[in-house]
Amino acid sequence: MSSCIIKKNILIEGKTKKVYNTDNPFEVIIHHTDNITALDGLKKSFIQDKGVLNNEITTLIFQFLNSCNIKTHFIRKINNREQLCHKVDMIPLEFVVRNIVSGSMSQRLGIKEGINLYDPIFEIFYKNDKLKDPLINDYHAVFLKIVSHEELNTIYNITSQINIFIKKYFFDKNIILVDFKIEFGKNYKNEIVLSDEISPDTCRFWDKRTMKKLDKDLFRRGFKEKEEVFDIYIEILKRLNVS
Ligand code: UDP
Repeated sequence: MSSCIIKKNILIEGKTKKVYNTDNPFEVIIHHTDNITALDGLKKSFIQDKGVLNNEITTLIFQFLNSCNIKTHFIRKINNREQLCHKVDMIPLEFVVRNIVSGSMSQRLGIKEGINLYDPIFEIFYKNDKLKDPLINDYHAVFLKIVSHEELNTIYNITSQINIFIKKYFFDKNIILVDFKIEFGKNYKNEIVLSDEISPDTCRFWDKRTMKKLDKDLFRRGFKEKEEVFDIYIEILKRLNVS
């Protein structure tokens, strides 16, 4: 299947992924590397074959979301590290959804980690390395001319649906979705579509029975060695593969 796609020049090199042009101007190849970063890129490392696991995990989740009629950039996985995706113009915002208090929300507001949020909380972070991706609100995003209020409404609607779908998807696999970050792009028709990835790098997962952490927090907080973090990502993939 992959033999007919011609991989061309590199378009973007991010912290954990590379994006390549293809012979089709409307499609790109996304390549998952083994890099792992945290704390706005301050903490960097490399976990052998993590890119293979993230490519597989994000493929399963995007296939699931496509099947739920959520518009995403994902077309198909083409090999163990790469996927073919619709080309989009990325919107430089990170949308965080919180179902349980953790991470920066817990620190910023001095609230204990683990409190259930019956109404999920949505946050926007402005993707800007120099400014260290600050937390902003709708008015800032509109003032910065990144999106309009109407586009934000659309994004909040899609984000809310995504949260409902994947929260249940993970719960059925004995995983609690504590919080996650997603990003959107605009395709050639100017439609807003879910892009980037959803993986243990971008979500907080806790085990449903033990509440043990099953994600990048183990690396971020220095609780585990790299090898153990790899094993946790394998555990997530195993659970997702059980139907
Ligand atoms: N997140 C992410 N990339 C970032 C920052 C956060 O994928 O650059 C994810 C993170 O994995 C978590 C959620 O967004 O699932 C909320 O992260 P938080 O704001 O608590 O910040 P962190 O604790 O990651 O600094």
